[in-house]
This record gives sequence, C-alpha cells and structure tokens, in this order.
Amino acid sequence: REETKTAASVPPKKNAKGVILDKDGKPCRTCNTLSQFRSGTKSISHLPSSSSFPTKSPSSTPSTDDCPPDVELLGRSSWTLLHSITATYPVAPSPTQQSDAKTFMSLFGKLYPCWVCAEDFQDFMARNRVRTESRQAFGEWMCEAHNEVNRKLGKREFDCSRWEERWRTGWRD
Ligand code: FAD
Repeated sequence: REETKTAASVPPKKNAKGVILDKDGKPCRTCNTLSQFRSGTKSISHLPSSSSFPTKSPSSTPSTDDCPPDVELLGRSSWTLLHSITATYPVAPSPTQQSDAKTFMSLFGKLYPCWVCAEDFQDFMARNRVRTESRQAFGEWMCEAHNEVNRKLGKREFDCSRWEERWRTGWRD
C-alpha cells in the first residue's frame, strides 16, 4: 500500500504488531481479520476489556457469530451483495437505472466500513469507470473489481466469463 498512496490520502497506520488502526488510532476491527485483531490488541493495556470484542455472547455461549464482523466476514457479505445486485440488474437498463447504479457504487466506495479497503476501491473506480450500460457489463466490471482485490491479497483470480453462473444461473455441468 505504501507505494500506491497518493499525497492526499492518509497512509494506513499500523501498531507494533502490524494491526491496521482506525483513523482515531484504535485497532480497526473491520480492517483486520479476527486473529490479527486479537493478536494485536492483547498487549494494549490502555484498552478497557469492555472495548475489545468478546468471543462469547452475554449468555457465555461460545460463539463468534454474533460478534462484530472482521475484514473477511464483511468482505464476503459485501461481495455477495454486490454481485447479487449485478445479477438482478436489468439486461437493458434505463438511463435512470444506470445513473442509480453509478451513484450506489460511488457511495458504497465512500461508506465501506474498512477504510483502507475503501480507499483502494475508490482508487480502482477512479481508474476503471463503473460500467452500467447492461447487466453483462456491470457484472463483468464487478468481477474485475473483485479480481483487483483478489490480486492484492494474493488470491486466485476468478474467471470473469463465469460470473453469471456463480451469481445468477448456477454452475453449468
Ligand atoms: P471473497 O473474496 O469474499 O469471495 C467470495 C466468493 O466470491 C468466492 O468464494 C468466489 O466464489 C466468488 N468470487 C471470488 N472472486 C470473484 C470475482 N472476481 N468475481 C465474481 N465472484 C468472485 N480485504 C482485505 O484484507 N484488504 C482489502 O483491501 C480489501 N478490500 C476489499 C474491498 C471491497 C470493496 C470488498 C467488498 C472487500 C474487500 N476485502 C479486503 C475483503 C476481501 O475481498 C474478501 O472478501 C475477504 O478476504 C474474504 O475472502 P474469501 O476468500 O472468503 O472470498
């Protein structure tokens, strides 16, 4: 990230354990995995125990399902929403529908809860205009956007010719 930052952007701040910090200097739950978050906050003595994220519900049932999302859960859920939006987008959208989709993506990029992710996503959208002229165009654009993040994280790229099978029709045999 250091190489890609612009003069106007705030560089990501990490604590000594490599945990990404929020802009207020506290560990950013939605920017780290749960294990990173845990490893990075254990030794922070100024954090009261009530401010760390419990792994047990108030009833002491051992569960992480009802804890605040980490970067991975937030990401998986968000991609599910984004790809599903493209899958149900009109084949031939009206000018208003195209404009709504662009506005949604712009606001999504600004409001995404992982701020380091949001900054990179906004950079991607500045370099790659959101294509909303058809369902196919929007679906492929989203797939390419997702692949950009996959590459950044060292994950395998997805074959974008199959985005619709994954997110709309189901896999062909
Ligand atoms: P995900 O990447 O969440 O994918 C879910 C499913 O989508 C996969 O199982 C696969 O079936 C399908 N899929 C995968 N690639 C594609 C594709 N190209 N097109 C269509 N379908 C596909 N995490 C970070 O750590 N750092 C970041 O900077 C970061 N930025 C993000 C930016 C955005 C806008 C979003 C929504 C998420 C971001 N994430 C980031 C989260 C990250 O992308 C993953 O969601 C998270 O790491 C969990 O990955 P996963 O392996 O479970 O699968």
